[in-house]
Amino acid sequence: QAHSELEVRVQQRTAELNQSNVQLKSEIDERQRAEAALHSSIATNRALINAMPDWMFRFSAEGVFVNHKGATNSKFPLPSDQFLGKSLQEVFPAETAGPFMRCIQAALDSNEMQLFEYQLTHDGTPYVFEARIAVSAENEVMAVIRDITERKRFEEDIQTALNKERELNELKSRFVAMTSHEFRTPLATILSSAELLEHYGHKWDDTRKLKHLNQIQQSVEHMTGLLNDVLLLGKAESGNLTFKPISINLTEFCRGISEELQITTKTHEIVCGLPQQPIETQMDEKLLRHIFTNLLSNAIKYSPQGGIINFDLVFEEEDALFKVQDHGLGIPQTECDRVFNSFNRASNVGNISGTGLGLAIVKRSVDLHGGEITLTSQEKVGTTFTVRLPTNQRVEQDG
Ligand code: ATP
Ligand code: MG
Repeated sequence: QAHSELEVRVQQRTAELNQSNVQLKSEIDERQRAEAALHSSIATNRALINAMPDWMFRFSAEGVFVNHKGATNSKFPLPSDQFLGKSLQEVFPAETAGPFMRCIQAALDSNEMQLFEYQLTHDGTPYVFEARIAVSAENEVMAVIRDITERKRFEEDIQTALNKERELNELKSRFVAMTSHEFRTPLATILSSAELLEHYGHKWDDTRKLKHLNQIQQSVEHMTGLLNDVLLLGKAESGNLTFKPISINLTEFCRGISEELQITTKTHEIVCGLPQQPIETQMDEKLLRHIFTNLLSNAIKYSPQGGIINFDLVFEEEDALFKVQDHGLGIPQTECDRVFNSFNRASNVGNISGTGLGLAIVKRSVDLHGGEITLTSQEKVGTTFTVRLPTNQRVEQDG
């Protein structure tokens, strides 16, 4: 009996052991599966991290580079021995290291992700980076840094295009406002002269008829001039006004322009101060005409009491320096900056007519020459415009 009892116990125990073996085996299987899953997830994470186009750095709370992962396709090489174990202050210029350090501090203090942009120059090329800084462990942060140089450039390009578009739109609306205002007078003149000629022409002598015909012609010319200015400016604003330099003798050119304008006035005298010897330069004659007919006609127009207008040219190193000086109305100090804007007129013009396009065209023409224009003016004393144009390919001839 004792024997069979023992046998039963052995059988029971064996069954128990088998049972626990099965359990153990399934636990081992389970663990192996979990381990495999963990491996694959680590591999996935690593693949993900490696595929990220960003730099990743771990920083200590003191801003020391602890560890890193390079960026794929980065154009900004930074060998790891140049930063690992070093502090931000040692690696970056102060204006970058400072804010970077403050962001690390802020991330640690608030436990929130910090974002900031900074610039670095490498081989003379400026790069823009965006850093995201998050706490990764106690007293440690992770910084994910992306090269956003191209994105920034695109953004800037788009912004410039938008601004240009906006300027053009503004110009268009100012044109609409100006034409409705400026075309009304000459159109009214044309209409009234034509009506008078229709009703009384047969009774009038030739002189009287001619007077009204001339008035019609002048009004048309005025409007054509206005339209040409607007078209020219539109062309300049949209970048379609080109610079076509030809060989030109500046002394002769200035004398010619001043004679052309002298015949438009009896009360002014244009006094030229030009170099003795003829000097050949490479400039765009059309643009030069725009510049000096506008400056000289302004000088005449805004000195209604008449007087002397000085037109000087000197050469300074590689530049031609032109000066147009009048003793007229002058421009109020606070308005001098604005006179080059299109459709802008100073407050002291009284009833002298104009559209405010001349100087805008002058400015564009000077810009196309790579030159610069400045003015000094005092109300009731006079105005001086100075134009500096480079004459790169200057050839001097013996005169
Ligand atoms: P237009 O388009 O017919 O030339 P405008 O003469 O009024 O018209 P701008 O030549 O662009 O336009 O000049 C802009 C403004 O600058 C003028 O309206 C005037 O107020 C001021 N200005 C320009 N030149 C002189 C000058 N020599 N003396 C005083 N004011 C001047
Ligand atoms: Mg003018």
